[in-house]
Amino acid sequence: MQEISSRLKKAGNSIGFVPTMGCLHEGHLSLMRKARRENDALVISIFVNPKQFGPGEDYRQYPRDLRRDEALAGKAGVDIIFHPRAADMYPEGHETSVTVGDLARVMCGASRPAHFEGVCTVCAKLFNIIKPDTAYFGQKDYQQAVIIRRMVEDLNMGVKLKVLPTVREESGLARSSRNSYLSRPQRENAALLYASLKKARSLISAGCKNASDIKKAMRNIISREPGIRIDYISIADPYTLKEKKSVTSKVIIALAARAGKTRLIDNILAGERRNLKEA
Ligand code: AMP
Repeated sequence: MQEISSRLKKAGNSIGFVPTMGCLHEGHLSLMRKARRENDALVISIFVNPKQFGPGEDYRQYPRDLRRDEALAGKAGVDIIFHPRAADMYPEGHETSVTVGDLARVMCGASRPAHFEGVCTVCAKLFNIIKPDTAYFGQKDYQQAVIIRRMVEDLNMGVKLKVLPTVREESGLARSSRNSYLSRPQRENAALLYASLKKARSLISAGCKNASDIKKAMRNIISREPGIRIDYISIADPYTLKEKKSVTSKVIIALAARAGKTRLIDNILAGERRNLKEA
């Protein structure tokens, strides 16, 4: 892969890159289509990265379907699928990893302590192997995008990052490979997560500034379905991810919840200056 990338670059091609864990869906495909339009060559990776799964998490069960992924990627105009084995990425003796500070300790990092170290390490490796000009990420994993942006800047990686909007099912549920774990009623109930985020945003647009009131309104909506258990709700600065007590500027509202054993995340940006001035 490194040789192919070097050759592409030497010939003057720009490389767009979409890292994924496979089981491709519309969320992934939206990134690929955008990357296709903006680059000469489009590389994606399909790699279920063991280092970003904690003990007891779903590394083994994580859905894998390379044949289907290849067909979808082909239709989206992907030139190259990089699909390494775990032993290729982490051969015996591998012991270097990338850690990010406080950004990785809040939100999902609080309950998944080694997760973002795994994410950063694999992304650093993938960037070094593929040498993309631009890498495309989804807003669905907002914290991940913020952390990778930090890493790229702090380690002078010279990769341009683009973060694209979350693609949702008709119900509002954010598309995710993990949605395949959900039963039909769980899938329906999980739509409440986005409903709660929209409620928070409309409260903010209406002038509500108190973060704990907004969180309470969100909990009220989600608790309509006892099958959904909230891991966290965060209303935070969109750059530092520091928790806000009062919403006086743009914020990221992020949450994680479980439907049965399935962990789901979602987020929304709110409180654009325009709305706050009007309020
Ligand atoms: P994953 O395969 O879940 O690691 O995701 C690979 C990339 O696709 C990440 O940048 C995700 O943020 C992005 N992605 C996943 N789901 C969605 C979605 N529903 N909408 C937009 N991007 C997504």
